[in-house]
Amino acid sequence: MFEYHTIIVGAGPAGLACGTALARAGERVLVLDRHRRIGPKVCAGGITWSGINKRVPSELLERSFPDQKVFTGWQKTVISASRPLVSTINRETLGRWMLENAEAAGAEVRNATAVKSFSGNLLRTDRGEFTFRFLVGADGSSSTVRRLLGMTTKRVGVGINYFVPGDFPAIEWHLDDKLFANGYAWLFPHRETASIGAYCDRNSLPPAILLKNLHLWAEKYDIDLDQSKMSSGLINYDFQGWRFGNFFLAGDAAGLASPLTGEGIYPAIVSGEEIARTILDPGYEGYAMKKLLARHRLHRTVVSLTGSNRLACRLVMESLVLALRSGLIPFSALEMAG
Ligand SMILES: Cc1cc2nc3c(=O)[nH]c(=O)nc-3n(C[C@H](O)[C@H](O)[C@H](O)COP(=O)(O)OP(=O)(O)OC[C@H]3O[C@@H](n4cnc5c(N)ncnc54)[C@H](O)[C@@H]3O)c2cc1C
Repeated sequence: MFEYHTIIVGAGPAGLACGTALARAGERVLVLDRHRRIGPKVCAGGITWSGINKRVPSELLERSFPDQKVFTGWQKTVISASRPLVSTINRETLGRWMLENAEAAGAEVRNATAVKSFSGNLLRTDRGEFTFRFLVGADGSSSTVRRLLGMTTKRVGVGINYFVPGDFPAIEWHLDDKLFANGYAWLFPHRETASIGAYCDRNSLPPAILLKNLHLWAEKYDIDLDQSKMSSGLINYDFQGWRFGNFFLAGDAAGLASPLTGEGIYPAIVSGEEIARTILDPGYEGYAMKKLLARHRLHRTVVSLTGSNRLACRLVMESLVLALRSGLIPFSALEMAG
């Protein structure tokens, strides 16, 4: 007999979504996280409305924006909708709320416990050993579980973030291939700060150049980044599968973040929920997972195209924004929920 039906490594959005769903179904679940505080994570806190509005209560949101200001080398435009397209959320607030849900459902969550290795159905941590029937790796872009399953990670994005104090009126996306190759810089207003940063595929631009170019861009727009603390992180999009017998990978550990935008909160929550459903019913045909994987493939194709050379990058990015402006494609084409 195993101590736990399922052990989940990582109490980020993927792990807590999975743990909540399994515990609600009455299973004995343990969620482990190496950090003392659950929730904080290097992140801009942008969440797309179509994916999250049914999953996260509106009182948790910081601000919501129906208008998206988009800048490219040749265009400057506003994509508008009758409802918010993107909202912002504080990651600690989201984490705390998801933790409360998981514990209320009956999941056991242990912090300050780092997973080191596993063999057979035994998991080793720096705070003891536990046995499991199913193991879910929801341990982010540098996932230990992924590595122990023998997977390498070559396709990753790099995100750099600053929280700058001030009242910023609008969300902005800056697709400037000279500075950010096939990535972009963003300005996502929160309540008393804005997340200002840049994302790019690591194979297209080395992180040091991305940082330097983010500062050049900020100078141009009179934004002072020097008084704020820089944070950065990897965003794994090297998806190679999510189910491996009684082992599963969710969220960033599975490489499910968008290769194009780095959006990873929605894929984390959805994959966590879908893994729970699959564990509970092995015959379950996950519609949401299939949709997520189709969107991931599409974004990966765009990144391969735009990463091949600078002219292709400029043409694809400009065409994309032109198509958004003219309503030929909806803004949701850029979203993982799409
Ligand atoms: C600069 C930046 C900006 C971003 N902005 C956005 C954005 O605006 N919108 C968006 O949707 N996404 C954004 N992302 C991506 C998003 O943060 C991630 O995709 C998302 O957090 C993935 O969730 P997760 O649950 O898979 O992993 P994580 O949130 O990374 O959680 C993994 C958890 O596992 C724990 N863990 C790791 N190793 C172990 C171990 N060995 N033992 C125990 N616990 C372990 C960690 O402590 C962590 O709590 C951004 C990322 C970066 C770097």
